Amino acid sequence: MTQLISARNGIITPQMQASAAAENIDAETLRKRIAEGVAVLPMNIKHENCRATGIGFGLKTKVNANIGTSREHCFLEEEIKKLEVSIEAGADTVMDLSTGGNLDEIRKILISRCPIPLGSVPIYQCVVDLMNEGKSAAELDEARIIDTVHRHAESGVDFITIHSGVTKRAVQKMARKTRIMDVVSRGGSFLVSWIRAHGKENPFYTCYDKLIEIALEYDVTFSLGDGLRPGCLHDASDDLQFDELLVLGELRDRAVEAGVQVMIEGPGHVPLADVQSNIALQKTICKGAPFYVLGPLVTDVAPGYDHIAGAIGGAIAAAYGADFLCFLTPSEHLRLPTVEDTREGVIATRLAAHAGDIAKGIAGARQWDDEMSRARRNRDWEKMYQLALDPKRAKQYHTSAPPAGDKDVCTMCGDLCSIKQAEKALSKTFEAPTL
Ligand code: SF4
Repeated sequence: MTQLISARNGIITPQMQASAAAENIDAETLRKRIAEGVAVLPMNIKHENCRATGIGFGLKTKVNANIGTSREHCFLEEEIKKLEVSIEAGADTVMDLSTGGNLDEIRKILISRCPIPLGSVPIYQCVVDLMNEGKSAAELDEARIIDTVHRHAESGVDFITIHSGVTKRAVQKMARKTRIMDVVSRGGSFLVSWIRAHGKENPFYTCYDKLIEIALEYDVTFSLGDGLRPGCLHDASDDLQFDELLVLGELRDRAVEAGVQVMIEGPGHVPLADVQSNIALQKTICKGAPFYVLGPLVTDVAPGYDHIAGAIGGAIAAAYGADFLCFLTPSEHLRLPTVEDTREGVIATRLAAHAGDIAKGIAGARQWDDEMSRARRNRDWEKMYQLALDPKRAKQYHTSAPPAGDKDVCTMCGDLCSIKQAEKALSKTFEAPTL
């Protein structure tokens, strides 16, 4: 029985209890949200010791880190390190996007070491397996999709990106060439090629009911992928993006009705002024389903700093109701992220999620800031390190520049420390200088 079916039957599962406790809300509230499909608890029955992590309405905004090999750069040890660093830096989930090496083996090893929900993108494996067999992506068929999704579910994957929303109708519309970037999703581009080669409907769409059956068996959460997401500001909020969103709304209804938990993936690249309307549209069309956004990047001109461009969009998106932020790293658009990039990406995205949580009024979010402010006023450096989003960096920066004189200040203002001056001025024993 999936968490959604249990919730609908009025059952509060141990996972709901654990997730509600972590969120400081009561388990019955979470059960109701899961039953309504506005929150999910991705947790494959085969993934042992996985932390119960609720994603959705009224819950803390969650952060995903992408890891995984590529065909150009394939070192399992490095990906294991990225997994460890992501968890240490506070990611709530990870996705294995591997395309290089033995994909079944890599996924198995990563899941066995992963105490948080792990997601995957089965279409990558479908295409990589075809290539390894000396075939082309055009030879993809329903049988291969069903088999691959089943292998991912059987191995314990908690959520999978399903690219069922790229339809023949949208691909026909693309012939008008109104976009600068056309298609930037890898899954989306494979399917556009397939549909153009065969002139038939997307096989991920036509075998969707079979995929629902697999998800029901293992309680795999669907993350309905946006294969036609905008890849630059120019292409944002166009008919292709929203045409696909309408299809995702329909697919959401079919899966939720059957008892499968569903999230919806979103853009991508979106001008700051359009972020709020993008969230509102998704929430309306998809009946409040948890929204999982990639960034969104609010400018296209920051290669090397795209984790910042994404965090700006992510904070605004979270403030307006996005539930789940996929990280971006400084390597976005340039190379496969390194271990350090992965860490930077998680921290930047957690910052965005937390800023959004303060705006959304998530229970406990603001208290964290107030505690930090008290520690800062008291120049309690140890406490500040402890409370920092990135304790290691806070300590490293502060201790790298010890003040020459007064140790109770930092080198920013030294003996002009405003906090200390104000403390003295406002203390009861303070004697005002005679003017
Ligand atoms: S010296 Fe300046 S920056 Fe440092 S603690 Fe005092 S007010 Fe803050």
